[in-house]
Formats: sequence, C-alpha cells, structure tokens
Amino acid sequence: MDDDGLYSRLKAYEGRPAAVSGTGRDPVNAPMIRHWCEAMGDRNPAYTGPGAIAPPTMLQAWTMGGLGGHPGRARPYEELLALLDEAGCTAVVATDCEQEYLRPLRPGDEVTFDTVIESVSERKTTKLGAGYFITTRTDVRAGPDLAGTHRFRILKYAPARGRTAPRERRPRPVVNRDNAGFWEGVREHRLLLQRCTACAGLRFPWLPGCHACGCPEWDTVEAAGEGTVFSYVVLHHPPFPAFEPPYAIGLIELAEGVRVVSNVVGVPYDKVRIGMPVRLEFRRYDDELTLPVFRGVTV
Ligand code: ZN
Repeated sequence: MDDDGLYSRLKAYEGRPAAVSGTGRDPVNAPMIRHWCEAMGDRNPAYTGPGAIAPPTMLQAWTMGGLGGHPGRARPYEELLALLDEAGCTAVVATDCEQEYLRPLRPGDEVTFDTVIESVSERKTTKLGAGYFITTRTDVRAGPDLAGTHRFRILKYAPARGRTAPRERRPRPVVNRDNAGFWEGVREHRLLLQRCTACAGLRFPWLPGCHACGCPEWDTVEAAGEGTVFSYVVLHHPPFPAFEPPYAIGLIELAEGVRVVSNVVGVPYDKVRIGMPVRLEFRRYDDELTLPVFRGVTV
C-alpha cells in the first residue's frame, strides 16, 4: 500500500469519539412524528393517538442538529476528516446506515447520544474514486435506557480524475407523445401553442385534451413571441448543475393569453419586474438542446 502510513494514522481513530453527550434538539414529540409519517406515507396506527410510539426509523432524526450543525461533535472526528482532506480525499458521500432498536421512543422522551468512530476501512477503489469508508456508531438513549443504535457509513475519497471534467449539461426535456409536437416546433424555432378545434381555446403546456371543454382534437398556433412578465422568482439557492444562481425564472404571459415558464435573459436578475415586456428567442445550450427563453425589453 502506497499511502505512507496514512492508514495506520486513520486506524488510530477507531474507538475515539465523534460526538459526546449530544442532546436532541427537541424531546420526542407528536408533531415531528406526524410530519414524518405524512412524508413517508406511513399510516400505522401505532404512531398516533394515546400510547403512540415514534416510528423506529426516526431514531436518527432525534439526534440531528439541523442547520445549526452537529450537537456535541468531538475533535477526533474533525481531525480524522481533516487528515483525509489533507490526503486529497476531499469528497464525501454517505453510503449506508444500519439501525438496531432496543426500546421504543415515545412523545416526551428526552434523547441523548454518544457517537464513536467504530471503524476506518483500508483504502478502497470505487467508481467515484479511491478512499476510506468511515463507520460511526451512535448510541441513542432515552433517560438511562439505550433506545437504539445507528451506524452510519461514509466514503471520504479523492474524486477520480476526469469525472468532473465535462461541463454539466442542462437536464433534457422529457419528450412524449403528448408534447412531441411542441419540441418539434422548438427545433424549428417556433413556439407552438395548442388550440382546441371545438372551443378554439389556446393552451400551454401541451395536454392531450382541452381543459375547458374536454375535446381531444386540436391544432396549433405559432406564438408571435411578444409577452410580459406575469410573475417571477429569483433563484439563489440551491445551485443545480449547469445553472449558475442567481437567475430569474419568469412566468411569461404571451400576447396570445397563455403563460409559459422560462428564463428571463438579457436583464440582470435583480432588474426583472412584473409587467416587463419580453420577447421570445431561442437559445442553444448545447448540440442537442435549444430552449425558448425570453429577453427582457427595458424601456
Ligand atoms: Zn375546448
């Protein structure tokens, strides 16, 4: 192994603390249980009403620090991560977790926990890059009782060369039989609106039938390209690959009366305003992708 003794230095952290005497931000409580069950679609009656218990898989949720950081995080864990950063393993990915449940948690239980660095693997080569798996074990207590353990594994790795090189591309549109005509139009630099052949109502985005009269027959009308900003948001966060925040996303009302969501370009993001006139143009993002966007017309 050519890691200059790095592995033995990492290994020395096994058994050392990653968090000491952490306390849950909130006691186990019914609102968090309710939100969790709604998010998971879990209707198990054990989690509601008098005598309810918390879903066992919420174990980690009671120990999380939220945006404020990790409560009780200990120096050795920070040092271990710093050592890996110095060795070039600057990237991190969570790989898996295992939980054991020993006693149910109930609303009102005050949770405390300790986390230990349980193991550091030898250097492993993965598709992401070479690095080390670090497993931590968190013992979660309710009062004096051990309620469960939560093992969490991450891979700290040096990103494989070349992986990050190609510039991220914009997401591809999902083209299906209901909207294929729209994308054919875009290829010809035409913004096509559907028109119901029964009631003549225009619609956008494309749908299989008329939302006003239900008629499935339609033809198309090409938008002239004039419109105004009906509403907009400026996206600052989160960053998505191929997008550079901040940028303005407009809900554009076309002169024909329908609304289209697209980028507002040619105007600084903080100068976009409701009512601003815009004009359609087609922007080529890469060899395969051209999209309709709207250029702000400042007056
Ligand atoms: Zn109709």
